[in-house]
Amino acid sequence: MEQMPQNPYILLTPGPLSTTKTVKAVMMRDWCTWDDDYNAIVQDIRKRLIRMAGHQEGYTSVLMQGSGTFSVESVISTAVPENGKLLVLTNGAYGDRIAKIAKYHRISIAVNDSGEMAPPDPAHLLRSLETDPDISHVAVVHCETTTGMLNPVKTIGEIVKQHHKVYIVDAMSSFGGIPVNMAEIHADYLISSANKCIQGVPGFGFIIAGREILEKSKGQARSLSLDLYDQWYEMETKKGKWRFTSPTHTVRAFAQPLAELEEEGGVEKRYARYRENHRILVRGMRELGFQTLLADEHQSPFITSFISPNGGYEFLRFYHELKSRGFVIYPGKVTAMDTFRIGNIGDIGPDDIRNLLSAVKSSVFW
Ligand SMILES: *Cc1c(COP(=O)(O)O)cnc(C)c1O
Repeated sequence: MEQMPQNPYILLTPGPLSTTKTVKAVMMRDWCTWDDDYNAIVQDIRKRLIRMAGHQEGYTSVLMQGSGTFSVESVISTAVPENGKLLVLTNGAYGDRIAKIAKYHRISIAVNDSGEMAPPDPAHLLRSLETDPDISHVAVVHCETTTGMLNPVKTIGEIVKQHHKVYIVDAMSSFGGIPVNMAEIHADYLISSANKCIQGVPGFGFIIAGREILEKSKGQARSLSLDLYDQWYEMETKKGKWRFTSPTHTVRAFAQPLAELEEEGGVEKRYARYRENHRILVRGMRELGFQTLLADEHQSPFITSFISPNGGYEFLRFYHELKSRGFVIYPGKVTAMDTFRIGNIGDIGPDDIRNLLSAVKSSVFW
């Protein structure tokens, strides 16, 4: 471990993010995909994910190759039946992506777009469900990474369940970083990936689902490689075996940050660390004259959009100034305003954020 090269910079991005040396170290061996040793790791990961979503009974989990979008696409293209209709609540690029996925698969959709600066409107949702009986599924993003907004998934879930619809939550950039209980928010499908708040390396995503609902999706998939039911069936009945080549090193690596999350004290403790990182970041950036895009009440503690300053500021130059000082930030993604983003998830703590703030201070060239 001593000989492992030092990372040249800290990633202050929404993922992939800075991982611990111990996570990187466990990738230094090879695994056979059908061997018991490896399949036992897969089963252990699946169990831990269900527990992290607040449950043991009635829920199951599936791992899926690819980046997070592959997992979202596997849910959308498998869960919604041929005669179903998906209502997408969007307020950013990741909500829009869910609608785009549905269009690719020629799934009937309705879209409630509240705009990038506002959370989904519960009254609009209610109206949609009351006036459009074809809607069978509702999807929303938990933390809309475009802006950093934390959407009210529980309020939405209550309305969705009153109308007996299936509820899909893209919790990609929040799961593991904020306590969540699937039954409490009424989610039937919760989607995330290895390289966000759990602090693993990229290569696969995962889905936690109500077991009965998932079992009913048999035969509905519109794609072979993204057939969520079939992926689950193989993993479940063959005890941790994947249908097609699995990202073995990434999967083994993922067992490590799961253990490290427990050592840290669980999701509550991680949430506290992220909130502290975020508090120091926002206070310090405001002291330096920066403004956040969102009002504090809508802001998640994972990633923050800052409004680009006036007067000679250029993102790329600012980016390289910070990178040369050991910090990598992220470009903005909102359409209406020029912004940049700083993530505070990953293996980073308050001291890293304080060092970042000094680096920002000495990077100002405008
Ligand atoms: C990261 C992310 C995804 C998945 O993005 P990939 O680039 O495919 O990993 C999906 N939804 C949200 C909200 C995200 O933050």
